[in-house]
Parts: sequence; structure tokens; C-alpha cells
Amino acid sequence: MKVTDHIEAANGKTLFSFEIIPPKKGRSIQELYDNIDPLMEFKPPFIDVTTSREEYIYIDRDGLLDKKLTRMRPGTLGICASIKHKYEVDTVPHVLCGGFTKEETEYLLVDCQYLGIDNVMALRGDAMKEQKYFEPTNGGHQYAKELVEQIQQMNCGNFLHEVVETDNCADFCIGVAGYPEKHIEAPSITSDLKRLKEKVDAGADYVVTQMFFDNHKYFEFCDLARQYGINVPIVPGIKPLAIKKHLQLLPQVFKIDLPEDLVDAVEACKDSKAARQVGVEWAIQQSKELMQAGVPVLHFYSMGKSSNIKAIAEAIF
Ligand code: FAD
Repeated sequence: MKVTDHIEAANGKTLFSFEIIPPKKGRSIQELYDNIDPLMEFKPPFIDVTTSREEYIYIDRDGLLDKKLTRMRPGTLGICASIKHKYEVDTVPHVLCGGFTKEETEYLLVDCQYLGIDNVMALRGDAMKEQKYFEPTNGGHQYAKELVEQIQQMNCGNFLHEVVETDNCADFCIGVAGYPEKHIEAPSITSDLKRLKEKVDAGADYVVTQMFFDNHKYFEFCDLARQYGINVPIVPGIKPLAIKKHLQLLPQVFKIDLPEDLVDAVEACKDSKAARQVGVEWAIQQSKELMQAGVPVLHFYSMGKSSNIKAIAEAIF
């Protein structure tokens, strides 16, 4: 079932969902299940599974370094299929521009269709570790909007090199990313919103936001988005701060601000356990306020660990 249909069927009730990251290569999928199991009592209608960019590794061959391209967390689609089957829940694979040719994307989407996956999250992806700026893969897309267009074309039976007349067209519901505090590369929030509008005009059905810790940023973003004619659901993404180091890491990696009160509370913590508790309480307050405002879904970034998400869900659902 489509994410947008779940939202419609909820009839104004806020839904619970979360995002997981595939385990590192060689690790067991059981680890993932162990983190999903405790969250299933909150009845997520869908679970997102991220995709990681490829990266270079250097292998020492008798003093000479051999540069190889690898993907440390493969398996997004396989995980989506196994979770869908095991928990009877919809899954949303994240599909990236970076690292994939258009043809590879097409094959991935065909597999999604065969597996009965109705939703995809269309993203550009970040620059690779060695790159300062995002560089499109040869034969791939430069911006998420182009990926949305490709998916929409498939929804109409138009493949890259063939038009197929079929009564079995894909019908993907397409999610895209939005940034309440602006995407790092965007010259201004309004420019970023215009780009978001382009993604929606190209066929995106809903938006999921980057994490934020100040709800006002989300509310302002939604108001502005509506002014720009973006009328699809805007799902807030919530990440509970979990360790003291997040005070530096989260702003650095995700280019977001942390509210002063949160920073002070975490700095006053003696250890990471206390910081984690502050993070949980902050996320509970955020979630309660968002729920009161009638957000369609509270979407949690689990980063592979579920105990804090469970504590938050217990307090609000
Ligand atoms: P785009 O929408 O393409 O935008 C990228 C930048 O280009 C923006 O600054 C935009 O304003 C600008 N822009 C867009 N179109 C144009 C144009 N025509 N001309 C000039 N500028 C333009 N990353 C992963 O690697 N894997 C994941 O699984 C993943 N999941 C995510 C989930 C969510 C909910 C979010 C919010 C982010 C996720 N990301 C993920 C991170 C994302 O890939 C990065 O933030 C990336 O840098 C931008 O992706 P995008 O889809 O927003 O790009």
C-alpha cells in the first residue's frame, strides 16, 4: 500500500514510522530484526531502508595500494523484501542518483515492482567521501528531480529505451527529501523550496524532512512550502540525540542547529546514559507538539538502534 494511502486511511491520526540502516557487510540480518521487533507493537504502516553511497577502499598489495570501489552496507532491496514478508509491513527503499546509472536504477525499480514494493524514496545522495561536491555518476542523474521523473515515466509504462504497452504499469508512490533548515548547497531557503516544488511537480507524492530539533523550524518550513504551492504531506523526521558527541556530530553531518536549551541540558550530563535520556525526553516533547499540530506521521531515524525510539513511542502512542 502507498504511504499516501496509509496517511489518508489514518484519517487525521498521526502514524508512527521509522528508518533503518542496512547492517555492515558480513553482519547478520538478525541484528536488524532484533531492533525492529520492539517497535512493531506501535504498528508502523511503513519502514524506510536507507541506501549507502559506494566508497573507495585501499588494499595493500606488497606495498602498492590497490584502489577498489565497494559498498559497505549493501542489501537495501533485499532487506525491504525480507521485512515486508516477515512483518507484513510496507517498506520504502531509498533510491539514490549517486552511484547508479539510469539503467541500474531501472532494473532496481523493476525488482521493486516484482517484490510488490509500492513506495520509493528518491534521493540524490551525498558526495562520496573523497569528493568535495556531489558528482553525478556517468550515465546517472544529477538531481533527485531527474530520478523522480524517471520513476514517473515508469509509472506511465515508459522505460529508458522502450515504451511498453502494458496493463501492469508500475504505480510507485514517490517520497522526496525536504530541509527545514535548508540543504547545505542551496543558496537560500527559498531557492531550496523552489527545487522542492520542482520535485513535487515532477511527481513526488510526499516529503520527508531532514531531522530538526526545534519544531518552529518545521512549522515555518511547512508554511513556506504551502506558500510555494507544495501541497503534498510533509512528514517530520525525528532523531533523538543519543550521545554527548552528537552535539558536534549532528550539526556537522546534517547541517542543522541545536537549540540552546538542548545543548545546555546535554552539556550538563555526566555521561552518555544521561545524555541519551535528555535526547529521549526532548524527542517526546517534540513529538507531542507535532502530534498536536496534526502531522500525518512521526518518522524516526533509528540509526540501527531502537531502544530510545521505543521509549519515545511508548510515551506518545
Ligand atoms: P536534491 O533534491 O537533488 O537537491 C540537492 C541540492 O541541489 C539542493 O541544495 C537543491 O536545492 C539543489 N538543486 C536541486 N535541483 C537543482 C537544479 N536544477 N539546479 C541547481 N540546484 C539544484 N542519503 C543517502 O546517501 N542515503 C539515504 O538513504 C538517504 N536518505 C535520506 C532520507 C531523508 C529523509 C533525507 C532528508 C535525506 C537522506 N539522504 C540520504 C541524504 C541526501 O541524499 C542528501 O541530503 C543529499 O545531499 C541531497 O539529496 P536530495 O535528494 O535532497 O537532493
